[in-house]
Amino acid sequence: MTRMETEKTPFWKDKTLAQMNREEWESLCDGCAKCCLYRFEDADNRDIHFTNVHCRLLDTETGQCGNYPERSKLVPDCVTLTLETLEDPYWLPSTCAYRLLAEGKDLPDWHPLVSGDPHSMFDAGHSILGRTICEDDADELENHLITWIK
Ligand code: SF4
Ligand code: SF4
Repeated sequence: MTRMETEKTPFWKDKTLAQMNREEWESLCDGCAKCCLYRFEDADNRDIHFTNVHCRLLDTETGQCGNYPERSKLVPDCVTLTLETLEDPYWLPSTCAYRLLAEGKDLPDWHPLVSGDPHSMFDAGHSILGRTICEDDADELENHLITWIK
């Protein structure tokens, strides 16, 4: 007897961002925390320049937001990712799953959803943990520009 296995298409290939449920949407975040870094935008060409200064609400042990439910109230500059804010996601890191999918691209091999390993993002060197300082400890942001964020 031959047993036929049919491979299920992963939800991020099968659905648009608008079709995803809450759990699917949240699982897209790989936890890199790159979006919790302060950055500058070049007004001429929209280039984004990252600093190594992170938001004071970031939990530097886990890479998660220290108060996710109330982040918008506590940090008004924190942009909540929605279909609307993802319409033109150039301001997000190029590796961010929300940006990749919003731009019609696939997730990288190291994304935990693809690898099945929650640590693969760390192994691939995409976490900011241990490489940044808190805004409370930083001087002028201009002094903290970095090039290691893509
Ligand atoms: S940059 Fe994207 S994937 Fe990384 S923590 Fe922010 S929302 Fe999540
Ligand atoms: S409020 Fe939370 S999610 Fe927003 S930038 Fe700060 S740590 Fe990141």
